[in-house]
Amino acid sequence: MADAATVDQSVNDVDVVVVGAGFAGMYMLHRLRELGLSAVVIEAGTDVGGTWYWNRYPGARCDVPSMEYSYSFSEELQQEWQWTELMSAQPEILEYARHVADRFDLRRDILFETKVIAADFDEDDNRWTVTTDTGQCHRARWCIMATGCLSVPNVPNLPGLERFEGELYHTGDWPKVEPNLTAKRVGIIGTGSSGVQAIPVLAQRAGHLTVFQRSPVYTIPANNKPLRPETAEAFKERYGEIRQRQRVSVTGILGPTALREPRPKPADGAPRAARPGLLDLTPEERQAVFDEHGHGAFQRFADVYRDPAANAIACELFRQQIRKLVHDPLVAEALEPRDYPLACKRQVIDTGYYETFNRDNVTLVDLRRQPLLEITAQGVRVDGEDIELDVLVLATGFDAMTGALERIDIRGRDGVLLRDRWVGGPRTYLGLQVEGFPNLFTITGPGSPSVLSNVIVAIEQHVEWIADCLGHLMEHGRATIEPTEGAVEQWVAHVNEVAEGTMYVAPDCNSWYLGSNIEGKARVFMPYVGGLGRYRQRCDEIAANGYEGFVLA
Ligand code: FAD
Ligand code: NAP
Repeated sequence: MADAATVDQSVNDVDVVVVGAGFAGMYMLHRLRELGLSAVVIEAGTDVGGTWYWNRYPGARCDVPSMEYSYSFSEELQQEWQWTELMSAQPEILEYARHVADRFDLRRDILFETKVIAADFDEDDNRWTVTTDTGQCHRARWCIMATGCLSVPNVPNLPGLERFEGELYHTGDWPKVEPNLTAKRVGIIGTGSSGVQAIPVLAQRAGHLTVFQRSPVYTIPANNKPLRPETAEAFKERYGEIRQRQRVSVTGILGPTALREPRPKPADGAPRAARPGLLDLTPEERQAVFDEHGHGAFQRFADVYRDPAANAIACELFRQQIRKLVHDPLVAEALEPRDYPLACKRQVIDTGYYETFNRDNVTLVDLRRQPLLEITAQGVRVDGEDIELDVLVLATGFDAMTGALERIDIRGRDGVLLRDRWVGGPRTYLGLQVEGFPNLFTITGPGSPSVLSNVIVAIEQHVEWIADCLGHLMEHGRATIEPTEGAVEQWVAHVNEVAEGTMYVAPDCNSWYLGSNIEGKARVFMPYVGGLGRYRQRCDEIAANGYEGFVLA
C-alpha cells in the first residue's frame, strides 16, 4: 500500500485518485479508507457537496423526499440527521454534505480548488497519472471518476452574450454571495427544472422578471411541506426496511408508499389486478380525474408513459389545466407544451409556477413567436423588441452525463482519448467501465440508471460495487480490470433495447438524456431505463460469476 495521501507535494503516489467531492466522491473515499487504501479526492470547488455546492440559485431544492434522498450507509448518520422539509432546499442539503464530511473526517484527503485536466494510463506499470490545473501529478493504481452527471453548466452560444454589461449568472454556477435583485430588471432564459424552480422566487425578489421561453414545460406541483417530526421518527424506526425497499425498487423512490405497509400478495399467487390506464376510462371519467387532481393527474396512469394515444390525451388534459391556472389566455396558450410528448424529458416539479405568470411584475416572452436575435450590452433583443435588463440568468442546463468526463483528457491503452472513443455516443459496460481504459471507473456513468433514479441510491450501489471489486482484485492479486469489447457491445445493445418504445426516445423528443441540448452531441439515449433494482441484481450476478464480461489481468 502507498502512504496516505500527501496532497501538498507535486507528485503524489496513492492507491486511488477520485475526481469529484459530491455525494459520490465523498462516499467513495469513506469506502476506500475502510479497505485500507490511500486515496486523494480532487475537487474543483472549495467545499464538498457537488451539485448542492454549485446550484445555489433561488428556489433550488431536491424533488425526492429528503428522508430518501440521503445516504443509507451509516445507521448513526441517518438516525442523527434532522431534515426540516419533505424535500429540502439547497442550503440544507449542502449543510448535510458538510456534516457528512466532518463526521467521517473526509476533508483531510480532499484537495479543493483543483481541477483535473488529464488522466493517462501507463501500460508499463498499470498506473494512472492524473494531472491537475495547478500542475500537480497524482499517480494511482485506480482512478475513479465521481465527476457527476449534471456538473458542467451549458452556456449556449447566444450571439453577443459577451457584450452584456449587466450581471450574468448561470443557475449551475450561482455566486456564493446572493445577488441583490431588489427593484432590478431580471431576465431568465430556460424553463427546465432549474428555471421552473427559480422563476417563482425570482419574481418575488426582482423588480420585474422577464421569462424567455423556448419550450414550454410539463411541470407538476411539488406539494412540498415541512417535515413533521412524527413522520421523520416513523422513518427512522423503519429505516432498515425502507432503505432495502428503495434499493430493489425501480427508481429508488418510495414516496408516499414508504410508510405504508407493503400490500399483501394475493393468496392464490395470481398477479395483482393492474390499475386502469387512461385509455380504460371514458372521456368523462378522465376529465373528472384531472379536475380533481390537477395537471399532475397523468402520473396515475402507466399507459401515458408508453402508449402514444394515452399520452396524447393526457397532454390535452394537461394543457386544459394550464388554462385554468393562468388568467391571460394568450400567456396560457404560450405556456402550453404542444410539440413533444409528456414523460419524454426529466419530470419537472414546481411550487406556484403557473400562478407566477399572473403577477404584474412578470412577462413571458415566447421565443418561438419572437426568436432571440442577440444579447446586447443592455439586455436581450428578440424579434421586434429590445428588453433592457440589469441581470440575466441562464437556466440553460448542463452538458449532461458525458460532459465532465469528456472535458478531461482521459487516455487509456495506446493513448486513445475517451472523448474520441465516444464520438458516436458513450459506450460502457454497466456504466462502470470502458473497454481499453483499465482500472478506470465511472460512478453513475452513462449506461447505468443514475439520473433516472434517486441518484444517491444509484451512487451508493456503484460505490459499494466498486469497493467490493477493488477488494476482490487485491485478494486475488489482480493488477487490472477492464471490460471486454463483447461485453460493452452487448450492454450498449441492451441499454438501447430497453429504452425502445418508451417516451424517452420518441422521435419528437429532445432532451439532455439524448444529448440533444448540446450542439453537435450524438443523439444517443444515455441512462439505463431497466430500473435500479433489476440493474443492481445484474451487477451482483456479474460479480458473483467472477466478474463476467471483465478481464482481470
Ligand atoms: P456532483 O454532485 O455533480 O459532484 C461532482 C463533483 O465533481 C463536482 O463538485 C465537480 O466540481 C467535480 N468535478 C467534475 N469534474 C471535475 C474535474 N475535472 N476536476 C475536479 N473536480 C471535478 N438527483 C436526485 O436524485 N434528486 C434530486 O432531487 C436532484 N435534484 C437536482 C437538482 C439540481 C439543481 C441538479 C443540477 C441535480 C439534481 N440531481 C438530483 C442530480 C444530482 O446531480 C445528484 O443527485 C447528485 O448530487 C450527484 O452527485 P455526484 O457526486 O455524482 O455528482
Ligand atoms: P434543462 O432541463 O436542460 O433545461 C434547460 C432549459 O434552457 C430548457 O428550457 C431549454 O429549452 C432552455 N435553453 C437551453 N438553451 C437555450 C437557448 N439557446 N435559447 C433558449 N432557451 C434555451 O436544464 P435544467 O433546468 O438545469 O435541469 C437539468 C436537470 O438537472 C434536470 O432535468 C434535473 O435532472 C436536474 N435538476 C433537478 C431539479 C429538481 O427539481 N430537483 C432542479 C434543477 C435541476 P429547450 O427545452 O427548448 O431546449
